[in-house]
Amino acid sequence: MPIKNFPVFEKRVYLSSPTMHGEEQQYVQEAFDTNWVAPLGKNVDEFEKTVATYVGVQEAAALTAGTAALHLAVKLAGVRPGDIVLCSDLTFAATVNPVSYEGGIQVFIDSERDTWNMDPQALEVAFEKYDGKKYPKPKAVIVANLYGTPAKLDEIRAICDAHDTILIEDAAESLGATYKGQQTGTFGTWNAVSFNGNKIITTSGGGMFLSDDVEAVKKGTILGNAGTGTISLL
Ligand SMILES: *Cc1c(COP(=O)(O)O)cnc(C)c1O
Repeated sequence: MPIKNFPVFEKRVYLSSPTMHGEEQQYVQEAFDTNWVAPLGKNVDEFEKTVATYVGVQEAAALTAGTAALHLAVKLAGVRPGDIVLCSDLTFAATVNPVSYEGGIQVFIDSERDTWNMDPQALEVAFEKYDGKKYPKPKAVIVANLYGTPAKLDEIRAICDAHDTILIEDAAESLGATYKGQQTGTFGTWNAVSFNGNKIITTSGGGMFLSDDVEAVKKGTILGNAGTGTISLL
């Protein structure tokens, strides 16, 4: 039932509707012809290599979603029930949901005015509070680049390094954006991009885990392939 007096918009402006560029159908056909519809195959291998080379990381693992890539990062960071993870506060819920999947506790770091992303000063204040004395030290920091705009990634990285804490970069919305000449999705120890329908490029649904830590990516591929939907709870 339509809601009474609710305005009807005749001309919708769709958020990030996909555009096709000519070769997509050919690749789909190729996957059918070579019977690499499952489990992975040449197209996915090439896609991983192309993204890794493009952003400048050693390894990439394609997963079912950006959320799965973030979940993997949280698992690899060793987040256990009750652990503190410092997180961006202005972002899509998937940035922080994986912390809950592992029983961790999100501590939200406020945003700054210029990028709307995590404020490095506020992050520093949080590290002063969570210093391992009265409050436990954080297990990780998750920073998101909202609407494709990078956070102050080098400052945030430096703060994490100074406190010997793992940085996870949620670059789900910022594939192709650079910060001081460096691609986003490369600043964290572990990084996530998304290929969901509303992202920079889409596979309809999907995501990728990016890292220079080749061993972690191998482990991630095993975890990621062992489950469906999101990564398995091995
Ligand atoms: C879309 C998005 C995700 C999750 O990606 P999915 O592929 O939808 O799971 C995570 N973080 C941010 C900031 C996003 O915009």
